[in-house]
Amino acid sequence: MIVETLAPGVHAIDAPFEDVPLQIYVVEGSRLTVIDPGVPETAAGRLAEGLRELGRRLADVDLVINTHGHHDHRGGNGVVAEHNPDVAIAAHPADAAWVTDTERYLAEEYLRFRPAWEPPAEAVDRIRRLCGADLPVTVELAHGDELDLGGGHVLSVEHIPAHTDGSVALLHRAGKVLFTGDALQARGTPLQRRADFFPNYRHVDEYRRSLDFFAGCGAEIVGTAHTGVCSAHRAAQLVAESRRFADEYAAVIETLLAKAGSATVAELSRATREHYPRYDDGSPLLNTMCAYLADMCAVGTARLDDDRFTWLGTRS
Ligand SMILES: [Zn+2]
Repeated sequence: MIVETLAPGVHAIDAPFEDVPLQIYVVEGSRLTVIDPGVPETAAGRLAEGLRELGRRLADVDLVINTHGHHDHRGGNGVVAEHNPDVAIAAHPADAAWVTDTERYLAEEYLRFRPAWEPPAEAVDRIRRLCGADLPVTVELAHGDELDLGGGHVLSVEHIPAHTDGSVALLHRAGKVLFTGDALQARGTPLQRRADFFPNYRHVDEYRRSLDFFAGCGAEIVGTAHTGVCSAHRAAQLVAESRRFADEYAAVIETLLAKAGSATVAELSRATREHYPRYDDGSPLLNTMCAYLADMCAVGTARLDDDRFTWLGTRS
């Protein structure tokens, strides 16, 4: 069995791909709803298998919600649409362009630091493949929306623009289940065969605000994408760990820049990985690092050089 029932009509499907742990969520309202169908192979494989355990098929899925526009959350959209061409696709407008346009996603998430830093071409090709087919977003999610799926299942939409600008969390109040997508980063995403992903967020203040929401929302079960299904106690530990890391890295990056005096994004990424050797040199680290550097610029403890990718410390 790969399906775990979290509340009546609310299920998690264990759907790892490559060396990445992943949970896909299903809500059996009168509209059968899938939250984040993963990559093409998880939608065609584990999602289809999990739905079969529930007596359903991919063709029965009425609504797919993408908590954000990353490939491992929306890459399965096209597979679901092959089975039901009328399926509705829901996402926040700030991430909709990534859901509908793979090349724009790659440019804005993976190639945004060019020419100072860019991933190997084969890594970009791999992500392009994992995006699957581009589909239009037919339902735009807004903060405060109450998505009525029928059968007593309502999802409250919380816009939490930190991991990506268009990230949302979904709260199923009746079942006291919270779906976080990738918003609860703790100390990043542990991988089996590669260096771990660094905690990944683009806006530090918004990240802290999202953690406050998680701590106070009253959920008893928290469904994450890559950290499994958590009890309230475990989720509180992850929130605490996330807050600790958010504070800790603010001090680390400030010290690293002060020591360097001036440094490019590639140099600061290397210095960060010397401090935290378990992490991958990738866009998660660079996104988060640049979020902190932007905040330092705002308070005058750093300055961005003319080339856009070199940071100057203003305090030693
Ligand atoms: Zn993500």
